[in-house]
Amino acid sequence: MKLIPSLVSISMLLMPTAALAEQGFDVIVLGALGGIQDGNLSSYLIRPHGDRNAIACDAGSLVNGLKVAQDKGVFGDVKVPEGSPDSVVGHVLKNDLKGYLISHAHLDHVQGLVIASPDDSDKTIYSLPSVSAEIEQNYFNWKAWPNMLDRGQQPQLKKYHLEDLKPGKAKELTGTKMTVTPFPLNHGGAESTAFLIESGDDAILCFGDTGPDEVQKASNMQDIWKAVADKVKQRKLKAIILEVSYTSDRSDHLLFGHLTPKWVHKTLHALDQEVGGNALKGLPVVVSHIKYPLTDEQPQEAIRKELEAGNDLGVQFVIPEQGALYHFQ
Ligand SMILES: [Zn+2]
Ligand SMILES: [Zn+2]
Repeated sequence: MKLIPSLVSISMLLMPTAALAEQGFDVIVLGALGGIQDGNLSSYLIRPHGDRNAIACDAGSLVNGLKVAQDKGVFGDVKVPEGSPDSVVGHVLKNDLKGYLISHAHLDHVQGLVIASPDDSDKTIYSLPSVSAEIEQNYFNWKAWPNMLDRGQQPQLKKYHLEDLKPGKAKELTGTKMTVTPFPLNHGGAESTAFLIESGDDAILCFGDTGPDEVQKASNMQDIWKAVADKVKQRKLKAIILEVSYTSDRSDHLLFGHLTPKWVHKTLHALDQEVGGNALKGLPVVVSHIKYPLTDEQPQEAIRKELEAGNDLGVQFVIPEQGALYHFQ
């Protein structure tokens, strides 16, 4: 069996000394896959390195992801205050995790948050207005679930403040040192979101589900690459969390708003061009949302091979393990 280290430190190559003042981000993988099995669905806990105050980018799996991380020793240094009834997992959920960035309202990105909500602490959910409306109307409506929000169906339990984000506008993440800037994505016609999370000069980009611009007949990905090109050039962007749902043999009309290794190469080339060429060497790209199929053969290895085979940009592809802590600096 392969030993999976609980802490993986990933430094970008060619880091200029000017960038050394910041220390990047810790990313704990609460959920790595995109279905169909529950328990390991899209969710990344992100915090500035050396800081406990974190945000979750999507929450398909939440408490189960924290438990897997706890079992891997990731929370070995967490001290639950004396007199607190909480377990380490409970303490991290209620005290360290300060809010949620929800890319879109599909179940594989929100169900962990919904089912944990009765025992969660008061927090903010940050999303684009169309996503907020779906969270309010489809989940916290007193039919699917009690209304934990501060809007929508009465009575409002007001555990979660639902904060509408404006595309391209930075917003402070309450209780953390980070800000978030959302960018809309086209996910097979549904609006999804990529979140640019910044701490000081450092940035990390977490994508929700998205189709390729060419297939969606849209320019969402290209617009994001334009927005982050300078940060890539200056090596301030420490990692990209990007969805890859299927292997490249999946035909375009069956993508349903998702990416394959072929399309990832294409869009990363578009980013490279935007930056001026030869700009992505060593940049970590975390491959999220691989679909778990009901077959004996799992696609992780095939996807890894396809990504590496076409990796002429020298990107550092990371196939994440649930519960692992990665340090991107
Ligand atoms: Zn999804
Ligand atoms: Zn989706």
